[in-house]
Parts: sequence; structure tokens; C-alpha cells
Amino acid sequence: MRQRKVKNLEQKYEVYNDILVYEPSEIRGKWKKLAGDRPIYLEVGCGKGKFISELSALHPENFYIAVEGNRSVMLRAMEKIETNGTGNVVFIPHFIENLNDWFTPGEVDGIYLNFSDPLPKNYTAKKRLTHRDKLKQYFTILGKGGQVIFKTDNTGLFEFTIQEILASDLEIAEITRDLHNCPWIENIETEYEAKFSGLGENIKRVVIRRRNGETKENAQMTQITSMAAYNGRNIPTEDKVFGASGRAKAYLAKHGHENTINATIGSLLDDDGNLIVLSSVEEIVHNLSGADFAEYAPIAGTPGFKKAVTKAALGNYEPNGFVKVVATPGGTGSIRNAIANYSCLGDSILTHNWHWGPYKSIAGEQGRSLETFEMFDEDGNFNLADFEYKVKKLTRTQDRLLIILNTPANNPTGYSLSMEDWYGVKNILDGIDLEKKIALLVDVAYIDFAGETNETREFFSVIDTLRSNVLPIIAYSASKTFTFYGFRCAAMLCLAHNPEVAEEFEKVCTFSSRASWSNSPRAPQIVIEKIYNDNDLMRRVDKERAKYREILQRRGKAFEEEAAALRLQMVPFRSGFFITIPYDNPALLCQALEKKGVFLIEQNQGVRVSVASISEDKCRKLPAIIKDTMDELAGVL
Ligand code: PLP
Repeated sequence: MRQRKVKNLEQKYEVYNDILVYEPSEIRGKWKKLAGDRPIYLEVGCGKGKFISELSALHPENFYIAVEGNRSVMLRAMEKIETNGTGNVVFIPHFIENLNDWFTPGEVDGIYLNFSDPLPKNYTAKKRLTHRDKLKQYFTILGKGGQVIFKTDNTGLFEFTIQEILASDLEIAEITRDLHNCPWIENIETEYEAKFSGLGENIKRVVIRRRNGETKENAQMTQITSMAAYNGRNIPTEDKVFGASGRAKAYLAKHGHENTINATIGSLLDDDGNLIVLSSVEEIVHNLSGADFAEYAPIAGTPGFKKAVTKAALGNYEPNGFVKVVATPGGTGSIRNAIANYSCLGDSILTHNWHWGPYKSIAGEQGRSLETFEMFDEDGNFNLADFEYKVKKLTRTQDRLLIILNTPANNPTGYSLSMEDWYGVKNILDGIDLEKKIALLVDVAYIDFAGETNETREFFSVIDTLRSNVLPIIAYSASKTFTFYGFRCAAMLCLAHNPEVAEEFEKVCTFSSRASWSNSPRAPQIVIEKIYNDNDLMRRVDKERAKYREILQRRGKAFEEEAAALRLQMVPFRSGFFITIPYDNPALLCQALEKKGVFLIEQNQGVRVSVASISEDKCRKLPAIIKDTMDELAGVL
């Protein structure tokens, strides 16, 4: 609605001379003095001033600067301030061009942008107040810890803003796409908001801050300063696993296999450090025809593979839910597709603090971030209380939530959720508002090395009875199960409440595949199909895998027994490829161990041992070496 021009505006403005700043550039660098050393907040586009007058009355400890280019409108704002008599607001009657002309770097503590003009994207995006050039400007005048708080009812502008944040060197501190359903967020309505909310669109709000450049983690990140786009990602300077494994190989070449313990790689190796390949599977691979590998597979997988992989993933479990399957190149692809389809840009994905590192990269690459809950409480039990706290915290602001649980035989701890843990998870999810859409992705990458087939799948009966607002998704990888690490084969399966949700799952995930890697490799799909169509073959594969699973179990047990005898603490372990030792300074411990020819993987709060890649004998020796090294470091520190 057009604002009627106010008559005798100049005259009316004179009354407010004491709260008007016509030449803000003259106060550049002196605002703190004017503010009496109070924190300074700026509202860009204050309109008729409902927001700024209420906010300034609520916070007399702060100082506010309201900017508005439409002088007739701003007159109403000044009238409100006068009657409020708060004395902590001044007005700048201009449109903003370059805030650096008005403020020195760091002079402002926070900026509010409320219901800025959406301006059509194609022609005037650069003029939008949340365009990346403007965001950059805001953060030059904002001090350390300064934030921009932006709200709008315009979905297009909001999603544009999220992309601009990610394209800049900034991050999202808080986001909601339904502010009026978040009563715990202090919200002062603007005139526009009060009048137009409830007429259709939800009000959305995002709090933007600088990425914390000073954390230990960020110090090890690649600085993107040349040709590449930043796009909200943190790119490590070196892949931790491949870096450590490279150093281990160099050490081994010099000192020999018997003097090296290379427990870095998450593949099953024999006692001499050679990759174990299931010979039964290898035989089928060698007998494939040209067409078996040369032809494209359908994007969602060959029909035979979909059937076979459903049996492989579910075992004897008969689902209540509607199952649909989409092939992906490795479990990595399933995780990627789940994030792409069951979370929104800017959202946080929830997983446990002990987790496979790429979860964070896969989320970051797609403009999402990772939030974690403590996986264990002080007694070493699965920490349901923290899980509940984080689920509730995130669903307070997000309409949807993707949760990733990696079990059984979690990487890096080797922990498997018990049935009791699963009932606890169900209880918590049952308590979440039905309006919130939750996807529960269970990453079962190690399931076939975690124990007996049907025991490890018992938990399906729990996730299959979750309420209709929760979609269980299983990421089933063939990498370990069929020793197909490099063949890139996996599937994602849903256990949906109704056929529509299942159909939609298949459609959206297939679309995501098409838009990223297109078809998954055909050859491994044909191999799995052949195995499940031939009982003899299947028995052979199962038997061979069972043999290696036993070897793996013996290795884990050997490490566990020695660690217990030495009182070397382990993060709760059940089975699988990895064991983790908690330690406060994992980088230091890894460095010290590498001098002794022991190569492990540094985690946030500990070191990971791949028992899958070293002999039982080395598993038995390793706890003492770790313990001695810790004692030596304790003596030095
Ligand atoms: N999930 C976890 C926990 C993993 O450790 C891995 C691989 O190491 C994967 C998923 C994905 O593996 P891939 O993409 O080879 O199936």
C-alpha cells in the first residue's frame, strides 16, 4: 500500500532534530560515544517503527539506530519513539548505499532486517538487502560476535537469503521457517507482520553470524581464496584416513610389516595387510558378460537388484511398512540423497558425537550443517536424555528433522544400539509433535559384520512402528558385505506408513540420483542379483563371510581383553571394524604413536583403531603400546 505524502514534512521533522542524524558519515567512528558506550543495534528499514520502539523500550541497556529512506513513513516511527520516551534511539532518514560510509569496522553489534522488499530476483537481486554484497558490507561494520537477524514472509526471498549466506563466508546460527510457532524466540512484531501474517505465508527468520575462524578445526581447513566458490563448505587440507594411511605405508616400506601397525583403513585386511575379497563373489564378477557391466542400469537400480537387496537388507524381517528401494553408488550416495530430500537448505542434521567424518562434509556440501548429541552418558549408556534434548531443540525451530544413527557396529566406536536403546528412541520420537516431519536414517554400513543376520536386524520391528510423521530409511551398503568397496554399490530403503510416502521416496531419491551421479554401476547389482537367485551361491557367500566375521570378532575380543587387563579405557564397544580410545589430545597421541610405527585415526575426543585391518596378534599388542604412550605423554605434559 502506498503511503500518503505527509504535508509540511520539513516542518514536522524539525521537532525531532535531537533524534535525527542527517549526516551519519560525520559520526563515523564516534557512534560509541554518542551511544554512551552501550551496544549499538541497527534496524535497516524501520518502517513505521513499531519494532524499534518496542525493542528499545525493552532494552534500555542498548542503543538503536533506525534507518529508513521513506521520510513520510519514518515520521510515524519518530512519533512512537517520542511517546515512548526511551531516549536510546536515533534515526537516519536515508536509504542505505554503503554502510562503510557511516560506520567504521566493528562499530555495530547487531543488525535487524525486517520484511525487506523482496524485489524480483531476475532484475534486481543485487539490490536485495540480503544479497551477498550487502551481507559482506554488514559484517565489515559488525564487531566480533555480531549478528544479522533477518525475518520475512516471502519464501522466495528467504531461500535466496539462505543461498547468499552459504555463498558468503558466513553461517546460520538459528533458523526457523515458522517463527510464530516458536514462542520461545523473543519476537517483536512489525506493523507489516501483525497485519499480514495469518493471511498465508509463515514468517521465517534466520540469524546470521561469521564462521568461527579461530577454532582448532578451522585452522586445518583449506582456505578458498582463488578460483573456487566457498559455498558454505569446510574443506580439510588433508583427508585424515588417507593421510595417515599414506604415512603408514611409507613407514612400512622402510621398517617392514612386522614393525608397523597400520590400523587406519576401514577395510577388512588379512594378517599380512592384504585386502580380503570374498572369493565366491570374485568368481561371479569374473563370469560377468560385457553387457552386465557395460549397459546402463535403471537409475533406481535393476529390478532384480532391488528385490535381492531388499532381502539382503531386511533378512527374515517382514515389514509392515511400504518398502521402496533406490540404488546408490555406496552408502555414501544414500546418505547424500537422504539429506537432499529430507532436510531443507540451512537446516541442521542430527547425529551422535562419535560419527563417520563424511556426514559433516556431505551435509555441508549441500548447505546443511551437522548438530550432534552426546552418544554416551557418564555410565557409558546410550545417552537418550541428550538425544531427546537435541531432537526437541531442533524441532522447536525446524519444521523437519533428519536424524542419522549409525548402528550396529558404529564407526568409530563399534557400539550397537540395544533393543532397549531403540525403544527409548521410539519413545522420544513418539513424543514429537505430529506436524514435524522426521526422517530417521539408519546407516547400517557394518551390519553384516556386527553379528548374526537376524539378531542384528531385530530393531527393524521398532522403527517399523514409529508414528506417521517419522519416515525410517535404511542405508544398506554392499561395500563391506560383499567386499565391494571400490565397486560402489548400495541401496536406500524406506519403511513408509503409506504407499504415497513410499512412492514419493522412490521418485525424489531417483531424481536426486539423476541430478548427481545419474545411474549407479550395473555390474555389482547383477552380482548381488545372481547371489540371491542361487541358493548354493548364497550359502557359499554367507559361509565365507561368516569365516571372516569370526576372524574380525576374535581381533576385537583380543583388543578388548588386553585393554581391560591394562585398564585402558575404551568407548563402549560391541563389534565391528573399529574400537575407539577416548583421549583429550588425540593429535598428540597419534603423533607419538606414529614414531613407534603405530598408525591410528584421530577423532575429536579420541583415537580410532581399525581392528579390521590388523592381525589378532597386533590387536593383542596394541593396547599396551597405547597405554605406555599415554603414560609417557602424561609424564611430559
Ligand atoms: N557409513 C559409514 C559409517 C561408513 O563408515 C562408510 C564407509 O566407510 C559408509 C557409510 C559408506 O561407505 P560406502 O559409500 O563405501 O558404502
